[in-house]
Amino acid sequence: MVAEAVPRAKPGETFLLSECYASIQGESSFVGVPTIFVRLYTCNLRCVWCDSMYAVEGGEFREVSIADLVAEVRRLAGGKGRGPRHGISNVCWTGGEPLLQWRSIAEVVDTLPPSFVHTVETDGEVDLAPFDAAVRPKREDGLVRYIMDVKCPGSGMRANRAFENLRLLRPEDEVKFVLADRRDYEFAQEMLMKHETAAGTILFSPVTAAHKVPQGLDPAALARWILDDRLNVRLQPQVHKYIWPGETRGV
Ligand code: SF4
Repeated sequence: MVAEAVPRAKPGETFLLSECYASIQGESSFVGVPTIFVRLYTCNLRCVWCDSMYAVEGGEFREVSIADLVAEVRRLAGGKGRGPRHGISNVCWTGGEPLLQWRSIAEVVDTLPPSFVHTVETDGEVDLAPFDAAVRPKREDGLVRYIMDVKCPGSGMRANRAFENLRLLRPEDEVKFVLADRRDYEFAQEMLMKHETAAGTILFSPVTAAHKVPQGLDPAALARWILDDRLNVRLQPQVHKYIWPGETRGV
């Protein structure tokens, strides 16, 4: 079998883009907020329940310049001149693993005006430090925020770098554990005891059948466990999967 060659964008010049669209944010403390999603292609991990494998492998991407992506974000933002309740001002960088293309993301963050807030959904296993330094002024202003996974055993992956990255997080950042079963829940609890972070929000997100697994984790069971243990975390079902059941792209 011939392995798929890993494509590369030109750092600081282009992106490997899977898709770019406007939708409703289905996760994190931005849940329900209209958001522009920039889904970048390819990933350093292969989670068994990945629901966006088309952005990980298979070659479905196009290479776009930074200028073209900035123009696309501005077009999708819309609402110009229609008053303060119009226009989309949240940009979510996702994937795949977006921080594999951090130099190009930093260019876009720098180019777009401070009316945009950027959230970066990262798998936790890429060092945050270089990107963090590159976007420092907007990070200081709370305009760049992380939603960082800590991979649990049920993903088939192993959290490693995430524990270093936890130290770079700030109160406006969020840490996400995607939980497939009780073992993952206990793992997440243990990690929260062992590793300190300044991140203000901890998300416990149940795997659902929409994650291309035969069986997910019952959200009611997860709710019970959280309440029984009096855990100060946020139960986070993926709201877009309730709004658009069965849709896998553009949501
Ligand atoms: S890190 Fe995210 S995009 Fe990559 S394989 Fe895992 S779930 Fe999929």
